[in-house]
Amino acid sequence: MRLLLSALLFFYSTITQAQSPNRLLIQVGKLYDSQQKIFLNNQKIFIENGIIKEIGPNIKKAAGVKFIDLSQCTATPGLIDMHTHLLIHQKQSDDGMIIASKVPASERIKQGLAFAKENLEVGLTTVRDIGNSGQYLDVALKKELAKGKALGPTMYVSGPILSPPGGQFGKMAPADSFVINQEYRVIKGADDARLAVLEHIKHGVDVIKVCMNTDNRMLTLDEISAIVKTAHENNIPVTAHATTDKSARAAVLAGVNGIEHGYDLSDNTLILMAQRGTYLVPTDVTKEQAKILVEGIGMRGKEAEDYAKGFLDGVHDRLRRAVGKGVTILSGSDFYNDIKGLPRGKGAVGVILSYHEAGIPVNEVLQYATYNAAKALGASDSIGTIKKGMKADIVFFNGDLEKDFGTALFDVQMVLKDGIPVYPKRKTETNK
Ligand SMILES: [Zn+2]
Repeated sequence: MRLLLSALLFFYSTITQAQSPNRLLIQVGKLYDSQQKIFLNNQKIFIENGIIKEIGPNIKKAAGVKFIDLSQCTATPGLIDMHTHLLIHQKQSDDGMIIASKVPASERIKQGLAFAKENLEVGLTTVRDIGNSGQYLDVALKKELAKGKALGPTMYVSGPILSPPGGQFGKMAPADSFVINQEYRVIKGADDARLAVLEHIKHGVDVIKVCMNTDNRMLTLDEISAIVKTAHENNIPVTAHATTDKSARAAVLAGVNGIEHGYDLSDNTLILMAQRGTYLVPTDVTKEQAKILVEGIGMRGKEAEDYAKGFLDGVHDRLRRAVGKGVTILSGSDFYNDIKGLPRGKGAVGVILSYHEAGIPVNEVLQYATYNAAKALGASDSIGTIKKGMKADIVFFNGDLEKDFGTALFDVQMVLKDGIPVYPKRKTETNK
């Protein structure tokens, strides 16, 4: 009964909070300015009705304003993950994808809601979900979250991935073709490519995701060109899963907005991307994640260590070269694994640490997950920066995020979404 009462009280306070004019003054020890890429000390943030009204060291608390002292915290804009798969939860076995795809749609939405909440709690206030979401379950989840009853990030969605025949797989038994039909939109020629983009737009997607290559197949130049042209005519961006240099280069030349993964990019392709303003979403992993993932496929000891090291050395080198050539980087986790020891939220936010582990400074990697991502979403006038007039999507990390990045990044004290504290770790509010 006491439990029920406290649950009711919590519900009531959440509702009144959402309805009353929400005026907050928050003191932080450090604040990350994502445009300048600098940390400012001892700042106050004044928020009214979900919008940031003022930032500065000397803001006075007016009557009726709730004061929150987070002087032990570092504030950043709400983090953005440009590559999520909230509608799939996949074991690392050979048939992992098949089993995950057989989960009924209603269950996948339910699971997606849980992952959305987990992502919000690690500070991800916006995600771009790009495929492996059945038949437009991402659109359905986005609508569900937009109702405001369930907690989760703002979603941008792609619908089924446009792919060459056979989907994203190397080889698959004919009996498993249901996975391809359910999870992909197979493209058969340029006219069909145009149709597929128009179908997706009708369903309400925000971005087109193409699978440019698999082990042995690629979209043709005519197909990718038709996709890009049709999407851009309708003001929809296109991003391409491309794992090889050849496929990435073809996609860049066809005019895609971004490359996902790009494990194998040559200097020439990176230079081309910098010239054309094509961004890169490096879906990398931390050292700790690499160890767990490699052990998950059954490797042990020195074999596991060597394998993880080989992979990480490769992607670190690719990221450093991309940065060196002036390619715009956006943070994207691609974390969809059902694996012990790596919850969804931690797995997702870890990608930002992976960029730092590659040798990129903290003030740069945070921009990948804030300002740069907001710009690519066409939303930099409302998210991605803590400044006057922006939506109050803000994360407060315990400690000094600039100095203790690897620790503080995983220690969230509070998350604000539209000015509402959606994740308070412990009670810190005082009404001075
Ligand atoms: Zn992916």
